[in-house]
Amino acid sequence: MKIGTKVIHVGNKPDKETGAVIPPIFQTSTFAQKSPGVHKGYEYTRSHNPTRTRLEECLASLENGKYALVTSSGMAAEMLIMHAIKPGSTVLCGDDVYGGTYRLFTTVFHQLHNFIFIDTTDTKKVAAAIKEHNPDMLWLETPTNPTLKISDLKKLSAMAKKAKAKVVVDNTFMSPYFQRPLELGADIVLHSLTKYLNGHSDVIGGCLILRDKKLYDKLWVLQNSIGPSQSPFDSWLVLRGLKTLGVRMERHQENAFKIAKYLEKHPKVETVIYPGLKSHPQYKIAKAQMSGFGGMISFYIKGGPKESRAFLKKVKLFILAESLGGVESLIEHPAIMTHASIPKKVRDDLGITDNLIRLSVGIEDASDLLEDLKKALG
Ligand SMILES: *Cc1c(COP(=O)(O)O)cnc(C)c1O
Repeated sequence: MKIGTKVIHVGNKPDKETGAVIPPIFQTSTFAQKSPGVHKGYEYTRSHNPTRTRLEECLASLENGKYALVTSSGMAAEMLIMHAIKPGSTVLCGDDVYGGTYRLFTTVFHQLHNFIFIDTTDTKKVAAAIKEHNPDMLWLETPTNPTLKISDLKKLSAMAKKAKAKVVVDNTFMSPYFQRPLELGADIVLHSLTKYLNGHSDVIGGCLILRDKKLYDKLWVLQNSIGPSQSPFDSWLVLRGLKTLGVRMERHQENAFKIAKYLEKHPKVETVIYPGLKSHPQYKIAKAQMSGFGGMISFYIKGGPKESRAFLKKVKLFILAESLGGVESLIEHPAIMTHASIPKKVRDDLGITDNLIRLSVGIEDASDLLEDLKKALG
């Protein structure tokens, strides 16, 4: 099956008992046992729940993995990985990862592991860092947030494999519709389900997708012991949202292209960053490893904090809010909002300056979105 079919059919077979085309929500914490220890595979919802199982089946299939673990948030999924590696591990991590990931590593898990942040778009730098630090894990996010830098997944995964380091890829920005890291050599794919996979901005959730049974078992034991399993209702909502992933991603991309091209020509815009533009520094890698370019755009407005603020206050259709990947268009100011937890000096080095603006382009009518930007820039 192709991905546009999988999202509708895998994990979505009609209910065995009633024939209900839409699988029910198993909103229960516990399951009856015939005699002590004899049950139908379900005992307690923290461990397993039939609604969550359906979602896990679907997600594993979308990334061409074997196993999936659905958690209560993207951060919870990251936490499970951090507990799965032995204490004192060295993690080589992209220097422009999601702000929450940076915070989790530098303020929580820095007591347990060693984190080294590097520019993973520079393959030579990564090779040198692997040689120098002998890492246990390589943590990649591509495209990054918010500067949309692209790292070469195939090359980096091969290098890590040689050094016996596990490769984790946060694939939240592309979704499996446009990029499938396991096929390029990654060991674990991570998603914030909160974003494109659910797509409707009404759920927090996360997942890990992998092929290695031993590692999956370890992660499941951790999830069951620590407890960040997703609720049945939220899993059901994600199963529902997922069905339109294909049409949504196509439309996100179509709209983003129109807006990126418009902004590129606008006199009040300094630079536009969109992986689908030939001007993107890693356009070639993007084209090779992704089947589309997604719906995220970042751009530098001419001026500083004053001009940024004025513009952000003027847009009407674009909602000023954190997060991304929903059907509605969002706009935000990374330095003040999503990436405020990153020290200013680090932000400046990464290009997260006071005139950087990030758009999550929704699936509205593109002409309305363009009109909104035009008026606000004017
Ligand atoms: C949102 C996000 C996360 C964290 O996910 P939550 O569901 O908010 O916990 C991790 N990585 C990326 C790239 C994200 O955008």
